[in-house]
Amino acid sequence: MNFAGKVVLITGASSGIGAATAKQFAGLGASLALAGRNLDNLKEVASQCNSPSNKPLLLTGELTNEKDTEDILQKTISHYGRLDVLVNNAGILESGSIETTNLQQYDRLMNTNVRSIYHLTTLAVPHLIKTKGNVVNVSSVNGIRAFPGVLAYCMSKAAVDHFTRCAALDLAPKQVRVNAVNPGVTITNLHKRGGMNQEQYEAFIKKSQETHALGRPGKPEEVARTIVFLASDDASFITGATLPVDGGRHAMCPR
Ligand code: NDP
Repeated sequence: MNFAGKVVLITGASSGIGAATAKQFAGLGASLALAGRNLDNLKEVASQCNSPSNKPLLLTGELTNEKDTEDILQKTISHYGRLDVLVNNAGILESGSIETTNLQQYDRLMNTNVRSIYHLTTLAVPHLIKTKGNVVNVSSVNGIRAFPGVLAYCMSKAAVDHFTRCAALDLAPKQVRVNAVNPGVTITNLHKRGGMNQEQYEAFIKKSQETHALGRPGKPEEVARTIVFLASDDASFITGATLPVDGGRHAMCPR
């Protein structure tokens, strides 16, 4: 795989899966636009990107803010003049069931995990059509399987999966591919930021040994490698796919 001369925009590049994805693309020669809210973390990720000829463009913005989202896309195009790959990775997790999820929480999850992806992708599409580029969305095993106590998050990721399929069909005549990865539990800041304390997180990670067929949670680099594959010419005949990267979790049923 070689991304020399290709421009890749990654949201949520300041942490976790997005940061790991940035480093992998950099190692394959991509020109990077890295978006996040925390500039210090973005700078840290950029410093670890092994791209001697290309210094990543760093873009801060809140993706639920329409102006910020427009700026992220516009600055990428102004700087590089093109876009080949959009990785819609930024997202949040919050717990709550049908009895406990209020509308504010529902709106927060849907606005961050779905509406912002919809918005940024619509802005990116004219540029992706020009380059016959592609989109990789970061969904979740929660998009393909139901879990109790994470209702709005599961709904948001199911929406990302169907968005992936529908956009893939809309854009196929233009030779723009749209795919998604569906990670299982992956070691990042997501769960603690979503409200778990250290003790709860340790118990959750330990339980992942049972809830994932391969007997462990995943690493951000494992998800990143799949994102990079789907974005590459090696995946030239793959579109509309939602690909589990979850140690087999999606195939399991309790017994
Ligand atoms: P992290 O919390 O480590 O990273 C989340 C990233 O998204 C950060 O870069 C953060 O920016 C950015 N972000 C979140 N909300 C916004 C917003 N409103 N505007 C702009 N940027 C935002 O989590 P992960 O790396 O784990 O998550 C990445 C994706 O992977 C998410 O979509 C998540 O749902 C998905 N996923 C994760 C799994 C896991 O177990 N970790 C499993 C399945 C899916 P900043 O830090 O700068 O604020």
